[in-house]
Amino acid sequence: MRLRNVTGSREIIADSRFVVHEPFEYKGKWNAVFGNDHPLQIEIGMGKGRFMMDLAAANPDINYVGIEKYSTVLLRAIQKMEEHELSNLRFIRMDAEDICEAFDMGEVAKIYLNFSDPWPKDRHAKRRLPSRQFLARYDAILAKDGRIEFKTDNMDLFDFALGELEPAGWQLEAVTRDLHHDEKMLVGNIMTEYEEKFSSIGNPIYKYIIFRS
Ligand code: SAM
Repeated sequence: MRLRNVTGSREIIADSRFVVHEPFEYKGKWNAVFGNDHPLQIEIGMGKGRFMMDLAAANPDINYVGIEKYSTVLLRAIQKMEEHELSNLRFIRMDAEDICEAFDMGEVAKIYLNFSDPWPKDRHAKRRLPSRQFLARYDAILAKDGRIEFKTDNMDLFDFALGELEPAGWQLEAVTRDLHHDEKMLVGNIMTEYEEKFSSIGNPIYKYIIFRS
C-alpha cells in the first residue's frame, strides 16, 4: 500500500487544512474541529480514503476521521478531498497505537477496520488492528453502545479476529464469510479500495460487526 517516491508528501500534509495536525490536543474536543455535536466515526488504516469519502458524502450528519500511518498514502486522500471537499471529514496521520491519546473515553460512536494489514508472523500478532491489544484501546474510546465493523478478504486474519473477541469481552452482532452474497449484510455496503480490488478477482469478503458484552 505504501507508495514510494512521492516527493514532498510530508510538506503537503503539513499545509493541508483537511488534516488535524495536533490530534492529541483535540482529545475530548472533536466537536470543536467540526463545529457541531454530531456523532463521530473513525476508520483506522484508511489508506487512500475512498471509503471515508463515500461514507461522509452519504451521511452529512455524522463526523468522520480517517486515520492513516503513512504520509505517502494519506497524500492520496488529501488530493481526493481537494477535488471534492467534505466538511464532515478530516484526516490524521498517526499510528493507531496512539489512538487513546487522540480520543477521549466514549468519544467515538463507531470504528471501521477495512482490509487491515495481516501481519502473518505470530510474533507480530499484537500489531494486527483487530487483535485483543487493539480491542482494549478501542474499548477505551468507543461509546458504550458503540460498534466496530471489520472487513477483510484474508481468511486467516478473520479467523484470528474472531478468536480475539471473547477473551477481550466483545460479542458478534453480525458476521458473514461472503459479504457480497449476503443479502442482509450487503445493504448499504460502501466498498473500499481493497474491497474493489479483491472482490473483482473473486475473493470472498469477510465481515463482522461487534459490540461489548
Ligand atoms: N482501508 C483501506 C482499504 O480497505 O482500501 C486500506 C487498506 S491497506 C491494506 C491498510 C492500511 O492501513 C495501509 O494504508 C496502512 O498504512 C494502514 N495502517 C496499517 N497499520 C496502521 C496503524 N497501526 N495505524 C494507522 N494506519 C495503519
